[in-house]
Amino acid sequence: MSRRIAARRSPIHGNGVFALVDIPKGVELIEYRGKRLTHAQADRLYANTSDSGHTFLFTLNDKYVIDATSEGNIARWINHSCTPNCRALLEEDEGGDPRRDRVMIETLRPLRAGEELTYDYGIVLDERLTPRLKAIWACRCGAPRCCGTLLKPKRKPAGAAKQAGKRARS
Ligand SMILES: [Zn+2]
Repeated sequence: MSRRIAARRSPIHGNGVFALVDIPKGVELIEYRGKRLTHAQADRLYANTSDSGHTFLFTLNDKYVIDATSEGNIARWINHSCTPNCRALLEEDEGGDPRRDRVMIETLRPLRAGEELTYDYGIVLDERLTPRLKAIWACRCGAPRCCGTLLKPKRKPAGAAKQAGKRARS
């Protein structure tokens, strides 16, 4: 199979991932690969790194985080957008093993060759959204309805399920 996507410099942020050919809607393009860490392991590992607004961590489920810093592929370079053309799809392991759950990046609409792939990171922090945090996690996706930050307001605690999504250090 010929390559459908490739990483290169992005006008949004750092590196991005771009469609090399026209791609239909509903196509699973790439798995978000990386090493499985527990949330506690991820906290320990990245406790002393400064907040840069950049994360290769992806919350897989209540137990595990995918760390694309090691064993990752180019899916880690896909940028956030407030009007995304892809989504991160959680595929739960059929045997119920949370370590074997996977995240696939799927197109939400047809992509034209040359378009940058984006999805909604859906980052929810456990702390209050301060101006400093919003500045660190500023969004430059350029969408007309860009909300200016990658961070989502904290969900109501009652019955809130932890959702798969990119994970910020907290
Ligand atoms: Zn935006």
